[in-house]
Amino acid sequence: MDRKQFILRSLQFSVGSFLAAPLLAEQTQRTMSEPMIDGNPTKVTTFAFGQVKLPYAYDALEPHIDAKTMEIHYTKHHAAYVKKVTQAMADENITAGSAKEFFAKVSTYSANARNNGGGAWNHNLYWEVMKPNGGGEPTGKLLDAINGAFGSVAEFKTRFTEMGMKRFGSGWAWLVTNNGKLDVGSTPNQDNPLMDVGEFHGTPLLGMDVWEHAYYLKYQNKRDEYIQNWWNVVNWDAVAQRLG
Ligand code: MN
Repeated sequence: MDRKQFILRSLQFSVGSFLAAPLLAEQTQRTMSEPMIDGNPTKVTTFAFGQVKLPYAYDALEPHIDAKTMEIHYTKHHAAYVKKVTQAMADENITAGSAKEFFAKVSTYSANARNNGGGAWNHNLYWEVMKPNGGGEPTGKLLDAINGAFGSVAEFKTRFTEMGMKRFGSGWAWLVTNNGKLDVGSTPNQDNPLMDVGEFHGTPLLGMDVWEHAYYLKYQNKRDEYIQNWWNVVNWDAVAQRLG
């Protein structure tokens, strides 16, 4: 390949590289714009996955989720999904204006792009819907919506827990809003309800990771104990914000 092709290829490994084209003539400096989360249109027009800053310390969710699990989960698992989907988007020339757009066409991408894109996005939501001293019960509009859809918070928790327990192998349990109605479901692997694959769709409000890497160090095979304790770290305010 010639020099221009080489530089172009190098730039495609970087976030926001598509805006870097005007720089190709004389310099190789990258324009490293901040990765956008959920397509917030700040500097670049092409969506790139990023890793949100963890809103609390690794040990902040103790004793319900242990510090070691959080550290490995965030710095190894999640970081790898982000790195790999960034590479996959460059390799496959995938462009999207937002995460929603990316997932709406995910059936046309490689399994690599789908799995790592889901992993990147799902974990950002997961970190944000948890907090130290969380739990309790939702309030206000979210409480009304949950009561309306499921009858009670207790019934909602029972059904959501079932979604997490019945997911064989690895996956996620979700609370979504779909056409103005709340619903619970689950997806395998790193799929999510925004994807144009599978049977469960909607806009996620709450997501629970039921991969063993989310709980195995502390709970081993006892997924039920992880889920039961997980309710103590749910950030209902963050869930309510997603409902809007
Ligand atoms: Mn995970």
